Amino acid sequence: MIVVQKYGGSSVSTTEKIRNVAKRIAESARNAQMAVVVSAMGDTTDELIAMARELTVLPDGRELDKLLATGEQASSAILALALHAQGVNAVSLTGGQAGIITEKVPSKARILKVDPKRLKEELNSGKVAVVAGFQGITDNASWADITTLGRGGSDTTAVALAAALKADRCEIYTDVDGVFTTDPRVEPAAQKLDTISYEEMLEMAGQGARVMHSRAVELGELYEVEILVANSANNTQGTLIKKEDQSMEVRNPVRGIAHDDDVARLTVLSVPDKPGIAYQLFNPLADSNVNVDVIVQNVSQDGLTDVSFTVSNAELEKAKSVLAPVMKEIGAKELVTDENMAKVSIIGSGIRSHPGYASQMFGALSSEGINIIGITTSEIRITCLINKENVKPAVRALHKAFKLEKA
Ligand code: ASP
Ligand code: MG
Repeated sequence: MIVVQKYGGSSVSTTEKIRNVAKRIAESARNAQMAVVVSAMGDTTDELIAMARELTVLPDGRELDKLLATGEQASSAILALALHAQGVNAVSLTGGQAGIITEKVPSKARILKVDPKRLKEELNSGKVAVVAGFQGITDNASWADITTLGRGGSDTTAVALAAALKADRCEIYTDVDGVFTTDPRVEPAAQKLDTISYEEMLEMAGQGARVMHSRAVELGELYEVEILVANSANNTQGTLIKKEDQSMEVRNPVRGIAHDDDVARLTVLSVPDKPGIAYQLFNPLADSNVNVDVIVQNVSQDGLTDVSFTVSNAELEKAKSVLAPVMKEIGAKELVTDENMAKVSIIGSGIRSHPGYASQMFGALSSEGINIIGITTSEIRITCLINKENVKPAVRALHKAFKLEKA
């Protein structure tokens, strides 16, 4: 049996915690070949970024990647040492040594392929392989550069290795018990889910639930790797992310409520209402990699209309500077922004086949006196844009309205 386990930064933030993780691994390694992926200890990545920014506002991508990759290289070596201390034969590997080849795109490189030859040899020689998460190299040759996979990317490393090794299990250990119906800090009656489909998990992650890296879930779906998310500090059962199955159909069609209060709205006032304008507005944003969400265009009056859409707060300045020349070009009057926005979403694959969920959602929000500013939907999600101050009451009202609380 081959098992891939991943331990997040909070699970390896001190040597004490690393010792505990080593004990857990030693236990599992008795009946399985094990590849273990680690994140950097605690807030190491944030600290390294802050250090780089003290020296330059816009750190060079290649050097920043090389710097950040050291966080995981350190934690993997330390964990290997902790395993030795438990009498476990272990070897630490960088992402490149584990065969992870990526694009040459600093700070968010995608994995092109995994060559698990060395990894397999280490496992076959009876060692636990401890792999530095979040990183790869651009090539096998000496010109290869170290790349990183984007914040939270160690999850993706783990799923990619599980796929390449055809592992029997892929287990992601973190500081929460699994995936919940909603954020338990907002709604204490939130329940842990035993299973969730890839699709639902992707919608949850995309709408603010920060349990897992989206790309890891996409990769899991693509290679049909079932992913267990569980707590490294206890032995609760966790949540299994897997393909939709029949038993999922009979349960509550709504699986969870996600919220995201890192939302800014931009409204372009008085845009001419004619073909090509939406393209002129949104194409440059796409080219600059700005993620645009909830888009609302009002009914036009006198041939003019207002277009508003949302971005994450971190991308607001970038979006503004991209739009400035475009606005001149198309003769738009003014750009108004509001950083105090939030999104709440209901998510569940049952939404697809059950009409009436949208109206039930709007009803629950209106009975709390919450104004809906914009709406977007996917097949299995309905999202409302609201004011940030309404997030908590909105989440609680929806959690209740869709009967998600503990029995
Ligand atoms: N250490 C990296 C980060 O903090 C990667 C990870 O934790 O998965 O984003
Ligand atoms: Mg981290």
